[in-house]
Parts: sequence; structure tokens; C-alpha cells
Amino acid sequence: MSDVVVQNLPCKSLKLFTPALAELAAVLQKGLEENFASVQVSVIDCPDLSLPPYSLASPGLCGDQKVVDVGGPYYLLPLANKEKLYRLRDIAKICGDHSGLMVGAGAGPWPVVGANCELMANINVTGDTVDVRSKVAKVNAETQLGETQDIDTDAFALMGNFYLSKGNRDGKVLEIKASHRTGPDNYMSSIRNTLHKHYGDQTLGLGGTFLVEKGKAKLHVMSEFSTTPINNAEQLNNWLKFYEYEGPVTALGYLLSHDPGLDVRIEHFHCFTDRGVGGHYHYDTTPEDVAYRGYFGLAETFYRIDAPPEILNFGKD
Ligand SMILES: [Zn+2]
Repeated sequence: MSDVVVQNLPCKSLKLFTPALAELAAVLQKGLEENFASVQVSVIDCPDLSLPPYSLASPGLCGDQKVVDVGGPYYLLPLANKEKLYRLRDIAKICGDHSGLMVGAGAGPWPVVGANCELMANINVTGDTVDVRSKVAKVNAETQLGETQDIDTDAFALMGNFYLSKGNRDGKVLEIKASHRTGPDNYMSSIRNTLHKHYGDQTLGLGGTFLVEKGKAKLHVMSEFSTTPINNAEQLNNWLKFYEYEGPVTALGYLLSHDPGLDVRIEHFHCFTDRGVGGHYHYDTTPEDVAYRGYFGLAETFYRIDAPPEILNFGKD
């Protein structure tokens, strides 16, 4: 993939709203209590997230915090645009010559893996030096399981949603614990809706990692690229392979409080487990049993890179 040439990708950036973390914690505490029986939102010193079950490529989520949305489902649907190949190091360059951690969810580098796949991006980048701890999940053609494997490239395809930071622990992060879901909103939607309701038109971005400690998570993995056009949500859901996995399930990605009018993906997390399976996170399926624990940094800037020429109205959940 060293011959992937990225040139002149269009980029728009937006300064995000960054209230004090203590205020944010109080807002989220109140909001999440509408959907979960037990909630504890705290501002804490960043724990060492390079340890399992998070296993990030850097110890922390702090310093020069950003979120970035690259490409989009438009490049996958109705048929995949196979020219849409990117490298995380190039995305870092566009995002203000970023160096440090990049984690999140994207479409995997199918030319390297040899199959369409989900990417759990997890790298540390400095210029052209890239320490890759990423995984992909692909459908095993024989067993139909969504199996994960390690990769050693920073390439990806079609779309990606990443949280960027220096990757250090010199700062505070939000710890969001929630269990026993009593409302309709899953963990991410609950956080997002709370922020949107409280802060209105001001856009906030959170990124990092969360763990489904207990209960079951519903995930999907993309099948091999469809040769017939996928034109609506029903056809998309027939093409995706869905799975349910018991926790612990570790997720990487970001969420925005709302779309600031840049045709963005407002939440996107991809997961891995210690059992060799993973994929795109949808929601938990066991509200009474579920327990979440997440660590998030508050992003200062949002970057929208290589936005599609038209808005696609499905395939973003
Ligand atoms: Zn995804």
C-alpha cells in the first residue's frame, strides 16, 4: 500500500465547543440517568489505556485533541468506489501535521487484507513513522464468523471516523460508567442526545474508547463487496452480517453532538474482543444486564475530509 498516493483531499475544519469537563460531567450525569438505572460520570486523571482490555497504541487520550470524518458511506453505496484508499499518516498531515494517537472506526484496507473488512484503527504516528496496533474484522467465507486479525498498515478505504490526540496522560478525561439500561437510547446515542439537548447548536466532539463490560453487543461486519447495487436500508441490512457478542467488548471511535451541516457521521465505533471477533458497534441487546465503562477526550477541532459530492440518506447508523 506504499504506493497509495493521497493528494489534495478537500478538507473543512470547525472549532468545537469545549465547556469545562466538570460541567460536561454534570450534564452527562443528569442526561444518562434518563436511560440508565446506574450512572457515574467523573473527571479523572487519564488511566493507562495502553493496557488491556483497551490496548491503545498510546497510553492516554490527552493533548491536541481532534476528531476527523473521512469519506463516507456514499463511497460504499450503492456500489463500492474502489479508488477511495487513504492512509492515516496522510490524514494526520491534513489535520494540522498531527502526531500521536489515532483511534477509531473505518473501512479496512481491502487490497492488503484481500477482502472487504471493518477497521479498528489504533496507531501512533509521527510524520511517516507509524506504529500500527490496528485490527480488521472480516467475514470468514467458510464459518461466516466476523473474525479479527492484526494488520501492519495504516491504509484504509472508503470512510473513517477517528479521534486524534498526542496520546499522553497529561490531563483529565471523562470516565462514563452506565449500567442497566432503562430507556430506548443506547450508550452512545444517550451521550450524544444529552449533549445536543443541552448545548443546542454548539457542536461538541468526544472520542476514545468504551467497554461493554457485561451484557451483549450487536455488531456487524461488511460482506464482500456487493456486485449488485445496494439502494436502501433493507438491501444494506441483507448484505451486512450481524452478530451478538457477550462482553467484554472494546470499542474505538468518536461521537459528535450533532451534524454541524457538513454531511458528517455523528457516531461511529468499531469493536474488538479477546476472542478474535469484532466489528461495527450498533447497540446492546440486553438492557437489564448491560454495563458500560468509557474513557473520552473532548475534541477541540473537527475535520471533514474528502466529503462526498452528494448526501446519502442511509447507511450511517
Ligand atoms: Zn462502521
